[in-house]
Amino acid sequence: MTKVLIHGGAWNTDDQDIRQKEIDATNRSGKSLDLSKYTSALDIVEAAVVAQELEEALDAGIGSIVQLDGRIRMDAAICTSEGQYGAVLQIEHIDTPIKVARRILDLGYHSILSGEGARQFATEQGFPYVSPYTDHTFRDFMEGRKGISNLTYDVLVKNKEEYDIKKLSTVGAVAIDKDGRLAAACSTGGLEFGYPGRIGDTAILGAGVYCSKHVAVACTGEGDKILRHLTARRVEDLFLQSGSLVEATEEAVAELNKLTGAGCGLIAMAHTGESAIAMSTTFMSTYEKGA
Ligand code: ASP
Repeated sequence: MTKVLIHGGAWNTDDQDIRQKEIDATNRSGKSLDLSKYTSALDIVEAAVVAQELEEALDAGIGSIVQLDGRIRMDAAICTSEGQYGAVLQIEHIDTPIKVARRILDLGYHSILSGEGARQFATEQGFPYVSPYTDHTFRDFMEGRKGISNLTYDVLVKNKEEYDIKKLSTVGAVAIDKDGRLAAACSTGGLEFGYPGRIGDTAILGAGVYCSKHVAVACTGEGDKILRHLTARRVEDLFLQSGSLVEATEEAVAELNKLTGAGCGLIAMAHTGESAIAMSTTFMSTYEKGA
C-alpha cells in the first residue's frame, strides 16, 4: 500500500474565492505527485510539501505570510516512523524550506537549525537565495500593518481577538509506503499578525507534526495553542487507546478546542493504512491519493 494525504490549511473563512484558490492549489499539488516514482513515505511527503510550497496561494515557501517587520521567516519539518526528524525555524530567502529540513534529517547530526544559522547551512548545502514574496503577500502585509503604527508586543496582545486566525494556509502531508513506513511533513510562513521571530507549532515535533511507528500527523491552525497542548502527539495517545484513527483525530481537535478555543485542522495516517481528517474550523483543503 502506498498512500498520501495532504492539506493546505484550516481556518474560518466563508470567502468562496479564497476557498477555491486554496482548494485548487491543494488539488494541483496532490495531482502532480506520481507515487510510482517514490520508494519511501519520506520522499513522498517531501515531494508533496515542495509542490505546495511552490503554490503562491498557500502560506508556505513562495506565498508565505510576511511577519510584522516586513520579513518572511518560515518554519518546516519532516519526520519518519524510523525516528528521523529535521526542521528549520525562521529561515529566510528560500522557496522550499522543506528541502533544507530534509537535508538536516539526512545528515542526522543536529535536529533543528534556526534563523541565520539555518540560512547559512542552506547556502553551504547549495540552496540558492530565492525571494518568497509575491504581490499578494506584499499587499496583505501593507493592509495588515496599516492599523498598527507602533509595533510592540503589547499592541498585539491588546488586539489579539481581532488578530487571531486571520489567514491560515500552512501546508502538510502524511504518507505510508509499501513497506509500511510512515512519514509526515509540514511547512509554513506562520500567522498574518506574527511578531518578528515568532515560531508556531508547525515544525515542532509532537506539536504540529509527529511520526511514530503507529501514526503520522500534520496539524494546522492556531499554532500558539496547538503548541502548548502537543496536539499531534495527542493523536497517537488517543489512537492507542481507541484503535480508531478517525475517533482519535476528532477527539484531539475537539479536546484542544474545548481547552483553548483554538481552531485546528489535522490529517493523519496510521500504520494500518487508515487515514483521517478532522477540523474545528469551517474550512480545510485536503487531497488524498493512492491505495
Ligand atoms: N499553525 C501555523 C502557525 O501557527 C499556522 C497555520 O497552520 O496556518 O504558524
